Amino acid sequence: MPARIIDGRSVAQRIQSEIKSAARDFTAQAGAAPGLGVVLVGDDPASAMYVRMKRRACERAGLRSEARILPAASSQAEVECAVRGFNADANIHGILVQLPLPDHIDEEAALNEISLPKDVDGIHPLNIGRLGMRGREPTFTPATPTGVMLLIEETGETIEGKRAVVIGRSNIVGLPVALMLANANATVTICHSRTRDLPGAVKGADIVVAAVGRAEYVKGDWLKAGAIVIDVGSNSLPDPDSEKGYRYVGDIEFESARAVAGYITKVPGGVGPMTITMLLSNTLKAARRSLNE
Ligand code: NAP
Repeated sequence: MPARIIDGRSVAQRIQSEIKSAARDFTAQAGAAPGLGVVLVGDDPASAMYVRMKRRACERAGLRSEARILPAASSQAEVECAVRGFNADANIHGILVQLPLPDHIDEEAALNEISLPKDVDGIHPLNIGRLGMRGREPTFTPATPTGVMLLIEETGETIEGKRAVVIGRSNIVGLPVALMLANANATVTICHSRTRDLPGAVKGADIVVAAVGRAEYVKGDWLKAGAIVIDVGSNSLPDPDSEKGYRYVGDIEFESARAVAGYITKVPGGVGPMTITMLLSNTLKAARRSLNE
């Protein structure tokens, strides 16, 4: 039997409609909508597109968004000043620094400037550190990994005791996903570009999360029958049949994987819609916490 599809779009829609109604309540109580501040440096088209998508999602959910768009040649001080401006603004409850930053900017120093209660992207080094330490709680967990965890939970299967393989160890996806799976008591293996016998490592896994950035890299015959397969990858492939001339595919070879897996996400329509939704959800949480303070 082919794998059941974990429909990220419908999970995201369900959560977004809950956020919309909670944001309405918050606005009525606080007199202002939950606010997200976005810092974008430079003119990378993909980053500009992500920022536009986040603004539209905020508008749809009844959140306010404000962007500081700085030229690529901005200095470290200017970038940090933009972050500090949002820290000081009581109407901004969450701050997102759009990555990657230009090479001359010290990313860690810039992210360090985000005030912890406003770190809705969960990317502050202290929050990532807390995620990895026993008995510590980050103020927020990063958006894409949090979305991955919710999609796994959507299957109704328990995570505890399962063997999980995460392919990729980036700061924003692979590493935090692995930490979150370990915190949920899975036994986690992190694979990366130097892993020997990747298919062999994947074969033993009940849960596979692919965050590699290589189109259709993971094949169906690598998978254990019945595995939960979450595809974070988002890769464009030339496609003369499509209006745009390209199409998006994941890191998993979908058709061969679907024949073996128990559950699988699609690209597009899997993890992608969850990322923005988790950002909105964290911004709402930050706004509510600010009311309680
Ligand atoms: P990244 O920073 O480039 O990290 C890629 C990871 O994959 C690295 O850890 C790398 O290993 C590993 N890798 C590369 N080639 C490999 C190979 N042949 N075998 C095993 N591992 C290999 O990418 P990222 O930012 O984590 O993003 C990963 C993918 O997710 C991309 O397609 C990106 O577009 C997508 N993404 C999607 C969303 C969403 O919302 N849907 C959000 C973020 C990212 P090393 O560490 O050894 O270099």
